[in-house]
Amino acid sequence: MLERFTEKARRVIFFGRYEASQYGSPCIESFHLLLGLAREDKSVFLKLGPNIEGLRESYESRYPAHPRISTSVEVPLSMESKRILGRAAEEADKLQSKHIGTEHILLAMFAESEEIRTELEKLGLTRERAEREIVSKTTDAAQNFSADMLESSPGSAASGMPPRFHVCAGIGYDLHRLEAGRKLMIGGIEVPFDKGPVGHSDGDVLVHAICDALLGAAGMGDIGTHFPDTDPKWKGANSLVFLKHIRKLFAGGRAFISHIDAVVIAERPKLGPHFPAMQTALADALAIEPNKINLKAKTNEGVDAIGRGEAIAAHA
Ligand code: MG
Repeated sequence: MLERFTEKARRVIFFGRYEASQYGSPCIESFHLLLGLAREDKSVFLKLGPNIEGLRESYESRYPAHPRISTSVEVPLSMESKRILGRAAEEADKLQSKHIGTEHILLAMFAESEEIRTELEKLGLTRERAEREIVSKTTDAAQNFSADMLESSPGSAASGMPPRFHVCAGIGYDLHRLEAGRKLMIGGIEVPFDKGPVGHSDGDVLVHAICDALLGAAGMGDIGTHFPDTDPKWKGANSLVFLKHIRKLFAGGRAFISHIDAVVIAERPKLGPHFPAMQTALADALAIEPNKINLKAKTNEGVDAIGRGEAIAAHA
């Protein structure tokens, strides 16, 4: 389990051991972990109220400081401290976090130790308040390691942990008529050609299909609901703004993009050479890695409107 602890969380245990040694304790009691936590994660405590001096005074009023002993002495965790660290893993799972951080240790202390709960409440920090702060902080940070978290999902099943993610896929489709003298926008870039799509926005079929696939996967409706073509605001809009909007809808840990696969169907021009630029533009708009976007091109073998060069379509 220790490999799930963040560097900061590991240092809480290190400082807990140090505190236990400072007080000549034969094992690392939960209060030593708490003092270790306060040392390691001052920001949490400054924001939430209690400071390390307050905690220390409270501890020393009951357990007078012993003469210092060497920190090299091996000091084991008490049973309660072990329960706290085990519980921290459960708190991390509940918050869908791959890593066990200092905040999960704090929540576990509230849950496992009556003494710590009472002490922290005396200092003005309730579990409810801590939880509120931690949940908002965690959801903001969650996006930053979404890829890691998704990759960890299969492993979590093997290790007997409850699954932490629902993987959902969505489909998207779009078609626009092509007319002479319009800009051909595909995947957020302009592709040189003598025709371009007719549309309320810039008519970027690839972006529109991807928007629908993402919104569909997240159960958030479709592009028409979010960006109605009756709204003058979207007239001639660069469709990348739609993707940027979806990125905001997904923020705060509500949804993560693990992969996008799409195919553009056009008789002409050749699209393959433009894919790297499209991947970059799309990835920038969504704030993901370009290699998470797979693009393919097809012709319609001369059949139907697309085959006659009268329209362009995309699936994602
Ligand atoms: Mg469209």
